Amino acid sequence: AVRLKELHKAFGSLHALDGLDLAIEPGELVALLGPSGCGKTTALRVLAGLEDADAGQVLVGGRDVTSLPANRRDMGMVFQAYSLFPHLTALDNVEFGLKLRGRRRMPGRAAEMLELVGLGAFADRYPHQLSGGQQQRVALARALAIRPQVLLLDEPLSALDAKVRVQLRDEIKRIQTEVGTTTLFVTHDQEEALAMADRVGVMRAGRLEQLASPADVYQKPATAFVADFVGLSN
Ligand code: ATP
Repeated sequence: AVRLKELHKAFGSLHALDGLDLAIEPGELVALLGPSGCGKTTALRVLAGLEDADAGQVLVGGRDVTSLPANRRDMGMVFQAYSLFPHLTALDNVEFGLKLRGRRRMPGRAAEMLELVGLGAFADRYPHQLSGGQQQRVALARALAIRPQVLLLDEPLSALDAKVRVQLRDEIKRIQTEVGTTTLFVTHDQEEALAMADRVGVMRAGRLEQLASPADVYQKPATAFVADFVGLSN
């Protein structure tokens, strides 16, 4: 389980996080939605330890990790831009992810993870020999290889075309359910949130406005802001 407690983060006079509270159940996938600039990415970065909060706490599995560095937080991350190393094959990219986290050599683990994302036959390809969707699969395999308690996805599909996006989101959901990883997913795409999330969190100005099942967010928006926001694309 993940717990964000009263997180505050300012950039100069701008309060990117303004008392953010969020609790994610073990194995749950929560999608974070909200207008541009409301603090979604900042929330993810503070959770990951890539950014220090000014105040508040981050708890993972009941443990306070607020002051732990990113590489000791037991989290896997996939971002929008493919962050693969161009000079390493798919397999070596996943291996390197394991090594970075100081995991002991786990023979076969990297290959096993590539199989899981359907790229067993592509292990020896370099990133430039893979499509965008395949590269995101490698990034996902790398994130999952460490068997993280928490998976953080920041618009991992937004650079892909519509067809690949739908395929990959279904696959991410399948793998996430199978592995049972607690997941926080930032997206602009309401349909994506609806299709993937156990619960949807709608953020506004650095706080959570509503956290509920997709059906409830759409049918019983807690505030006029949520109603407006989810109504935008209807
Ligand atoms: P988007 O949907 O556009 O990606 P977001 O909800 O993810 O937006 P954040 O990226 O978390 O929003 O940014 C929240 C606010 O904090 C924005 O106003 C942004 O300009 C500001 N901000 C984020 N990072 C920094 C930084 N390193 N320095 C200064 N301001 C920042």
